[in-house]
Amino acid sequence: MSCSAETHPYNKIKPSTILIMGGAGYIGSHTVKHLLDRGYHCVVADNLVYGHREAVDPRAEFVEADLSDPASLDRVFAEHQIEAVIHFAAFAYVGESVQEPQKYYQNNVCGTLNLLAAMRRYGVNKIVFSSTCATYGEPEYTPIDEKHPQNPINPYGRTKLMIEQVFADYHRAYGLKYLALRYFNAAGCSADGSIGESHTPETHLIPLVLKAIKGERASIKVFGTDYDTPDGTCIRDYIHVEDLAQAHRLALEHLEEYSGYINLGTGIGTSVKEIIAAAEAVSGRKCPVDYAERRPGDPARLFADNAKAKEVLDWVPVYTDIKDIIKTAWNWELNKRY
Ligand code: UDP
Repeated sequence: MSCSAETHPYNKIKPSTILIMGGAGYIGSHTVKHLLDRGYHCVVADNLVYGHREAVDPRAEFVEADLSDPASLDRVFAEHQIEAVIHFAAFAYVGESVQEPQKYYQNNVCGTLNLLAAMRRYGVNKIVFSSTCATYGEPEYTPIDEKHPQNPINPYGRTKLMIEQVFADYHRAYGLKYLALRYFNAAGCSADGSIGESHTPETHLIPLVLKAIKGERASIKVFGTDYDTPDGTCIRDYIHVEDLAQAHRLALEHLEEYSGYINLGTGIGTSVKEIIAAAEAVSGRKCPVDYAERRPGDPARLFADNAKAKEVLDWVPVYTDIKDIIKTAWNWELNKRY
């Protein structure tokens, strides 16, 4: 029996494509836009639990799929000729991971195993993965390089470390080509204002400060003022989401020659008080502040040694002034679509 040209199942297959799992989320949606702007064909898969359908660039093809449902993953791979996967799909609330570890191990770890199994069934062996500086735990020294011991202090960080270890084993056994990108604090929004950060609930410092400035929240609570830092508040490394997006594209383009893990940060530390001052300068308004107790599990300072990203990916962050980062977030906060 022969198939006509219209009905042959292979006619559904599109040209070589990048699959972005979790591409309706914050960092995923910015990466999709960046890839499309550079001519990549993108398929976005997301279960829309935390993602926003409106965040997905209309130039991308959208498919509703869930890591816990292997049949939904098979459909994506069967209907597209996927060349590589960028995997953002994860639960990422540290506090919730302590309260509900089952949810985190099930979704983040088992879900990734399902994704890897589907990739193996369809002969796809390239993946770029969202890892995190939370895999390092309490820092033994700063700036943190990739050789720093990994002792995560919460289930969220442990799920990400486990997945990194799975990749290393699959690399040795099955030739998986992978890059795990360990982000520091993702911040900012698309410079053109088309997409941005929108979490429910919101727990991150910069959007909360901006909401306090706008009057959407009564105040920002500063978690701890007695840390061993120059102004007593915690220091973090805020990396612009478009710089992260660029790093994912470069990672894709380097998968043939390099597998492993890479820090993504600016290498610059900014304190909570400095963030508030920068947000006040950008908006021209005062931020109502409450000083509160330390939040459990917050190290005093976390910032990256980003030399490996420069060396392996030829990646250098464009945004190095925190005010420029906050400007993009403020613009989004004033005009957000979702
Ligand atoms: N932070 C704060 N008040 C808040 C939220 C965060 O003082 O309402 C502090 C937090 O203690 C940390 C920094 O801001 O030092 C960044 O926290 P965020 O939750 O944005 O990112 P994390 O570093 O936990 O990944």
